[in-house]
Amino acid sequence: MLDRLRAWERRTRPTDRAFTAALARRWAELPEGVRTPGQVLGRFGTGCEGTHGVFPACDLACTPCYHSRDANRVRVDGAHTRAQVGAQMATLERLRGPRAHAQLIGGEVTLLPPDDHAEALAIMRRHGREPMSMSHGDVDDGYLDRLVLGPDGRRRLDRLSFAVHVDSLMFGRRGIPRPPDEASLHPYRRRLVAQFARLRREHGVRTFLAHNMTVTPANVGEVADVVREAGAMGFGLLSFQPAAYVGDERRWRAGFRGGDVGPDAVWAQLERGAGARLDFRVFENGDVRCNRTAYGFFVGSRWHLVLDGDDARDLRVRDAVLHRLSGIGFASTPRPLLAVKLLRLAATDPGLVPLALGWATRTVRRVGVRALLRHGVRPVTFVMHRFMDAADVAPAWELSQRGVVSEDARLRETQERLAACHYAMAHPDDGALVPACVQHGVLDPAENAELAVLLPMPTVRRSR
Ligand code: SF4
Repeated sequence: MLDRLRAWERRTRPTDRAFTAALARRWAELPEGVRTPGQVLGRFGTGCEGTHGVFPACDLACTPCYHSRDANRVRVDGAHTRAQVGAQMATLERLRGPRAHAQLIGGEVTLLPPDDHAEALAIMRRHGREPMSMSHGDVDDGYLDRLVLGPDGRRRLDRLSFAVHVDSLMFGRRGIPRPPDEASLHPYRRRLVAQFARLRREHGVRTFLAHNMTVTPANVGEVADVVREAGAMGFGLLSFQPAAYVGDERRWRAGFRGGDVGPDAVWAQLERGAGARLDFRVFENGDVRCNRTAYGFFVGSRWHLVLDGDDARDLRVRDAVLHRLSGIGFASTPRPLLAVKLLRLAATDPGLVPLALGWATRTVRRVGVRALLRHGVRPVTFVMHRFMDAADVAPAWELSQRGVVSEDARLRETQERLAACHYAMAHPDDGALVPACVQHGVLDPAENAELAVLLPMPTVRRSR
């Protein structure tokens, strides 16, 4: 009995020692320039992670496509995927600590047989990773059922997160192989949200769905409309990626940088769509030249920031979240356990209670009781992630590896951004962690060429 009580006491401790130590290491590694008051890395999380070389092939075509030209010559192989995911996650766990968000990403994740996909997610969870599967979203209900239910028909996944990439720069989607514009894809976006709602309804799976869109001069004028429409559909996160010259050169188009696709112009489109100012300095994830994030929620058609960066009281709440709620690991902790941890934390740090109540009261006043009762709350996070051009990343990475700081302003900026990278990929062979920009811009071509020999495509390709 005593042993069980002790185990329960350990399990419900507000902070996990190994995670707290991993956060401290991460903070110590961060460049001085990004140790800002709102910096999340090293305080609340260690960053995002992703897999590479696990299933590079895809059956849609994007312009641009961040995968190298050999990616589609590599056979999707469940055993290879499981082994690689295990090795990469073990490396990430060793180097980045016991908890993190990680993307099961490569080519198209739903080309994996459902059993291998489910096992890859289970492996990630065994390494303390909260996984998110990256897909083009052209997926059937039958596949999703076989993913969440085992061969015995019983539920094997309690939680499922997908990030779906849906935009008019992608070709080959069933039903709309060449989308004329973003609006024509809205029914496909709605269908995806409905598919995941069905998983919740019929199988009791907790789901999270993020929406990704690449932005070029061709569709930047439609971003605000996508924010308005997709924001109301039920996606939990809307992420926009201004196009970079990385990956398969055959899929590059001239003028990705023409028009208004600079960071401020794209962000202004997001603000127009959300009908609100999106303050991306309240919380920062790495370097804001790479990532802008605004956390908030819709009440009806109006979006509200969770914390108002112009209100000193809200900034005190932000500081408390980053300093006093650090080390809990919100995402990967089951809700009942999280509730007990928070209660124990409140008991040892009672100052948190008035802070939380003050924030709740201000927020209700700001939003309006009537609106809240009428519409309820839909949390939606906005993200802009700006990958960098391979032509800049290659020399910048090479200089950084030699400990040299470039005199060229553009390369120096690239080096700074790589040093503060929020999105890491692991190499089990040499124990290296590299920014995803380096993986895609520098390492993928050779890696995929090797995989094409190791896992050649069958002579006749499976048709969808
Ligand atoms: S360095 Fe590249 S992969 Fe890392 S956060 Fe910046 S844009 Fe993203």
